[in-house]
Amino acid sequence: MSQLTVKDHNRDAIGFKYIYPVISRRSGGLSIGINVNTNNACNWACVYCQVPDLSIGSAPELDLELLAKELAEFLQDVLQGDFYDRFEIEQDKRVIKDIALSGNGEPTSVNNFYLATKTIIDVVEQANIPAPFQYVLITNGSLIHKPDVQKGLQLFNQHKGHVWFKVDSATGAGRRLINHTAISTEQQQNNLILSAELCKTWVQTCVLSYAGHEKEGLLTKVEQAAYLALLKYIIQKVNIQGVMLYSVARPSLQAQANYISSVKEEQLEEFAKNIRLLGLTVKVTV
Ligand code: SF4
Repeated sequence: MSQLTVKDHNRDAIGFKYIYPVISRRSGGLSIGINVNTNNACNWACVYCQVPDLSIGSAPELDLELLAKELAEFLQDVLQGDFYDRFEIEQDKRVIKDIALSGNGEPTSVNNFYLATKTIIDVVEQANIPAPFQYVLITNGSLIHKPDVQKGLQLFNQHKGHVWFKVDSATGAGRRLINHTAISTEQQQNNLILSAELCKTWVQTCVLSYAGHEKEGLLTKVEQAAYLALLKYIIQKVNIQGVMLYSVARPSLQAQANYISSVKEEQLEEFAKNIRLLGLTVKVTV
């Protein structure tokens, strides 16, 4: 008998290639994760990333048939089988909260993202999951300019899906430090606007301490000002759902792991207060 807890994000818990269950701290129930990055490859390399043996790259060729089969089997196990009992899930968490495209890398890097979303939605529609549950795409947002990704977001939107769009810094230096990406601020802004135009979008932001980099990162005044300016610019153009602020909850599996640590709830709340002044909803998770 196994147990799944809010700390357990083991992608192999049920032995499937693409599907993994998570009892989610943020959502308060079962999140069905879909990992298309089975090669642990991402186009970014965030210092807090929990992907083991992370490499730079894209998702491998996706086996749509296997994805559909695994998802259908897992949904049947949850809805008609004994999944909750087998994994000793607490009674109040025995509810499917979301189907999350989020894996060991950037999900939109898969070369048939639209077909992946369509396959997932087709299977889920057939399974008749009791409402309310929602589709979530957890993304670093760097590939939203791709037409195939936009088509997938439109489909997500038709099914009330949400995008959680990563913005850990609004400066080039901050993104290089935290995310190891060279994406420009202009591209980040444009992609965020595109995302919010196509589908309901939350900004998700990880705030952390980085030893030796106390003068950089989102805890500094310069970074916070740039971040607030970016949000201000975005909300003049398009509606976003709000901001999810959190810190490091589980150990990083990257080389920088020993240098990073979570920040205090008061620090997150202080920052949240300033974001709320822009008229945005902010959810703080510690
Ligand atoms: S974008 Fe996500 S998967 Fe990619 S390195 Fe960052 S945290 Fe890891």
